[in-house]
Formats: sequence, structure tokens, C-alpha cells
Amino acid sequence: MTIAFIGLGNMGAPMAANLLGAGHDVCVFDLVEDAVAALEGQGARRADSAAAACRDAEVVISMLPAGAHVRGLYLGSDQSPGLLDDLAHQPLIIDASTISPDDARLVGEAAAARGLTYLDAPVSGGIGGAKAGTLTFIVGGDAAGFEKATPVLEVMGKNIFHAGEVGAGQVAKICNNMLLGILMSGTAEALALGVRNGLDPAVLSEIMKQSSGGNWALNVYNPWPGVMEGSAASRDYQGGFLTDLMAKDLGLAWELALKTRASVPMGSQARNLFALHSAQGSGRLDFSSIQALYRAGEES
Ligand code: NAD
Repeated sequence: MTIAFIGLGNMGAPMAANLLGAGHDVCVFDLVEDAVAALEGQGARRADSAAAACRDAEVVISMLPAGAHVRGLYLGSDQSPGLLDDLAHQPLIIDASTISPDDARLVGEAAAARGLTYLDAPVSGGIGGAKAGTLTFIVGGDAAGFEKATPVLEVMGKNIFHAGEVGAGQVAKICNNMLLGILMSGTAEALALGVRNGLDPAVLSEIMKQSSGGNWALNVYNPWPGVMEGSAASRDYQGGFLTDLMAKDLGLAWELALKTRASVPMGSQARNLFALHSAQGSGRLDFSSIQALYRAGEES
């Protein structure tokens, strides 16, 4: 299949590489030249613009940082036309970025007005999952589009869910990441309390894993350095899922709650914790570095 891939960052680059590995004809574009060159070196065709990358594509996939980038790409701005106006050959559009449901619906409606099928398909599983081809895709859009996208998504992911209409993928993804933010900060809090009271963090972790406090953050992403081999915490919180991205996702959850008059007291608390942690200079560290907030003044 001929696929255009736009946005070759931490996630997009390995996802595009997996499509190449499965034998697809992939044409890539990113604003960063080095990112394009790296994929070209792995067998991709390169394009000098998003529109050029899409010219003969049957499927267009985008993996961009945030809603403003996705709106800018597809809808354009005063300065530049949007990609939707260049897709008269009707490729299927899959946006895998994490953005607000409203932004997804805005682009989805503009696509539908041009007879195009747009799916929001945010992912879970991080950079490790992107490299291994084991991402979870959470898709919003019509059933026919979902069916057409599934074989392509299966190359990059292990679990492919259809959450509902356009925007539903983003709602489900935002709920998941709000829960993850709460679980990670709660896990860090419990570990810090135990250590402050004389416990070994590895022993406490094992106890809680086998008890009712066990959860994904504790079981597979332990935030205390040295407890879990290969974890971000054990490599100075380098790589992984950035604090800034978690803060962004918790902000999306907060906006969604505000708009729909839902109460998210735990999510709000987590948003504030990650925003504070980012403001203190940890935005580019893995999000499990939230542990450091609880360790301030440890020696006192
Ligand atoms: P990133 O910042 O590493 O990559 C984004 C890429 O998009 C960059 O290479 C940038 O140059 C490119 N880009 C931006 N605007 C562009 C445009 N108009 N045209 C072409 N390229 C453009 O981000 P990432 O970590 O790959 O994350 C991408 C999305 O996936 C985000 O929405 C993020 O929330 C989500 N996500 C990330 C992770 C993770 O662990 N990193 C996990 C799950 C979901």
C-alpha cells in the first residue's frame, strides 16, 4: 500500500519504519530535515512538503505534537492552504496524535465536507511500543474507515480498538492518560512515604505489587531509581514519555471536564503536580520523574 507519513518524531519515526519493514511504500515528510533523512536511509521516499508526500497515497498518517499542529496541517492558516484541499484522490486519513476531541471533530468535519474519511487514532504504549510495533490504537471514526485502517494499524500496533465516532478515540485516550497520571503520582507518593519511614523501596514495591495497591505504574514503570532494571527511573529519567506530554494530556482532560461540567478532582491534582514539576525544569524528563517532587528535602 502507498502510505504518506507526516511527523517523524519520537513516535512517528519508528512507526513509519515498521510500515517500511512490512513492505509498504512509504513517503515521508517532517519539518526537521534530519528526521526525513533518517527514514530515507531506511528505504522511505522523501517529499518536500506534506502535500507532495500525499500525492499518490492511499492512506495518510500524521503523528504531530498537539492540536495546533494538526489543525495547521489539515486546515491551513492565513499564510498557507490546508492539506485537505490537496486530497482530491480521496486517501484515508489517520491522525495518531493526541489532541482534544474538539480539534479532532473540527478536522473530521472539514474532511467529511470534502468527501474524505478521517479517523482519530491516538496511541498508548510509548516509544518502546512504537519501536516494537505493539502500540494500542484507540480509534474514532466510521466503521468503514476503521475496517480499512485496521490492517495498516496492525503493522504498528497489537491492540486496535474502535471507541466510537470521530473524537471518541481522543476521549478514551485522555481518560486513560488521566488515570495514568493519577496512578503514577500516587505510586510515587506511597513510595516516598514508605522510604521516609525506613522501608527499602524495592521491598515496599514488591509488597504493594502483591497487595491491593498494585497498578501499572508500580508493576511495570516503577518511578524509584534502581528498583526496576531498564525503567526510565533507572536511567536518570532519560527517554520514555516526557513530563511535558503528560502535562499536556492532563490539561486536555481538565479542558474536557470543564467543557462537559464533569468533576475530576484527582485529575486536576495530577495536572497541577505535573505542571509544577515541568515548571521546575523537568519537562524533558520521563514523567515518572514526578518521584523527585516527593523526594525534595529527603535528607532533612
Ligand atoms: P515529537 O515532538 O517527538 O515529534 C513530532 C514531530 O512532528 C517532530 O519531528 C516535528 O518536527 C513534526 N512536525 C510538527 N509539525 C509538523 C508539520 N506541520 N509538518 C510535518 N512535521 C511536523 O512528538 P512524539 O513524542 O512523536 O509525539 C507525537 C504525538 O504522540 C503527541 O501528540 C504525543 O502526545 C503522542 N504520544 C506520544 C507518546 C510518547 O511516549 N512520546 C506516547 C503516546 C502518544
